[in-house]
Amino acid sequence: MNDSSGLILDVVAIRRRAGSRIDFTTRAGVGETCVGDVDVDGGLVDVDLLVETVVGGLTVSGTVRAHWSGPCRRCLIPVEGDVESELHEVFEVEPTEGETWPIVDERIDLTPSVREAVMLSLPLAPLCRESCRGPEPDRFPTGVADEGESSGDPRWAALDEIHFDQ
Ligand SMILES: [Zn+2]
Repeated sequence: MNDSSGLILDVVAIRRRAGSRIDFTTRAGVGETCVGDVDVDGGLVDVDLLVETVVGGLTVSGTVRAHWSGPCRRCLIPVEGDVESELHEVFEVEPTEGETWPIVDERIDLTPSVREAVMLSLPLAPLCRESCRGPEPDRFPTGVADEGESSGDPRWAALDEIHFDQ
């Protein structure tokens, strides 16, 4: 897989001038990104970052967004949502292990830090709705469950229990 090259940035030009900065906004793949059954669609992430030169290296800061999908933890119906997280990273020619990232051949690879930020923001146990109590097959006979979100409204669920005998 070579879909992560979109987050490798050539920093030759920016590093020539101290105090310079560039905006880096793109959509790129970061490879497999899942936590449990929650998965980022296509491994695609939107980044909106500011890259600035500092003494000895670069700082990268901004936001990372992704769309995820996965099963409701209780009833297993498909759920999806968006996550957004802040990114603040330092890149150095001689990085500190576990603290800063490397500048290699005047390039920085944002893939691992962006991927990590997204993974940490994914929901560990998504729910289709706060009040989901799990599978209730009696309430959702075949065909009714596809009507949309309104069928999940607990206020209407009571009506399903009413039967008219004539
Ligand atoms: Zn549910």
